[in-house]
Amino acid sequence: MEKLGVAIIGGGPAGLAAGIYAARGGARVKLFEELFPGGQIVKTHRVENYPGITGGPDGYALAAALEKHAAEFDLPIVYGSVANLKLTEGEKTFTVNGDEFSAAAVILCMGATPRKLGHPDEDRFVGAGISYCATCDGAFYRGKDVAIVGGGDTAVADALYLSGLCNKVYVIHRRDQFRAAGTLVDRVKQAPNVELVLDSTMVALSGEDRLSAVTVENKFTHETRELPVSGLFVAVGILPRTDLVQDQVALDEGGFIVTDKFMQTSIPGVFAAGDVRDTPLRQVVTACADGAIAATKAVEYVGMIQK
Ligand SMILES: Cc1cc2nc3c(=O)[nH]c(=O)nc-3n(C[C@H](O)[C@H](O)[C@H](O)COP(=O)(O)OP(=O)(O)OC[C@H]3O[C@@H](n4cnc5c(N)ncnc54)[C@H](O)[C@@H]3O)c2cc1C
Repeated sequence: MEKLGVAIIGGGPAGLAAGIYAARGGARVKLFEELFPGGQIVKTHRVENYPGITGGPDGYALAAALEKHAAEFDLPIVYGSVANLKLTEGEKTFTVNGDEFSAAAVILCMGATPRKLGHPDEDRFVGAGISYCATCDGAFYRGKDVAIVGGGDTAVADALYLSGLCNKVYVIHRRDQFRAAGTLVDRVKQAPNVELVLDSTMVALSGEDRLSAVTVENKFTHETRELPVSGLFVAVGILPRTDLVQDQVALDEGGFIVTDKFMQTSIPGVFAAGDVRDTPLRQVVTACADGAIAATKAVEYVGMIQK
């Protein structure tokens, strides 16, 4: 069994930032990533809101820059899925590719994934009309008619964003009130090319190779209506990747990991950072900031228990 000071699970922005801080802080650290460095940002064509990085690089470029930065501090990255994680107040143990590891501190950076609609035809149209991120794919629908489904901040903010690019934007929501901030809702109601389709649910997705229409049904009148759109943006929530830690660390009602301001979870020596934790903003900048705090505190923790 290989013994580590700090183990970082996940190589998205949170994990890579944690890795930079932990390696630079002199920890005996390894980062474990099951796919490729960068996490969700590799899914986006432009990241325009990461401070100091101008010109809106694509997600791959930003991921590569984070990875290169981590390599400058010789952060070892192991490619493989972390499994059999056992979190105790003492040593934390897990396996990767069949190899056994233990660590004095663990930083959980497994991220999150957008929630799907659950419609049987959804997967058929992913990448062919269905998108889970307006900021990534909105530009492909410039001048076209699109729909967005959801009723929270993301759905309403994305509808506003799309209204600046697209000819027409339908906002489909199963209730008549939005959960989004009032100012956002007021702005979306005033946008001339946005139509709110309320109290309605999606009943059909149509098209041959690509999506060409969505059919909605009003839940009170049961009337159906076909909306001819070439894009459907799904903004119905985000699912934390917490399978590894179920029944181990405290989670909030949405399943996100609860931390204090030091990114410490309910178990001493176990920290969480980025989209996987209970946080008011899920962005690259916040994930990196979380990672920096978690790594600083994890290195301190290891130094303290090893004295
Ligand atoms: C399409 C899209 C566009 C976006 N655009 C922007 C934007 O323009 N600006 C912005 O600031 N934010 C954007 N975001 C949000 C941003 O990408 C996330 O907030 C950020 O990536 C969160 O970083 P993270 O490290 O917490 O998690 P993630 O990026 O989700 O990374 C988690 C990593 O952990 C790995 N992992 C999970 N489980 C295991 C395991 N068991 N073993 C090993 N590895 C594991 C995953 O493979 C993944 O690489 C966008 C998100 C999406 C989906």
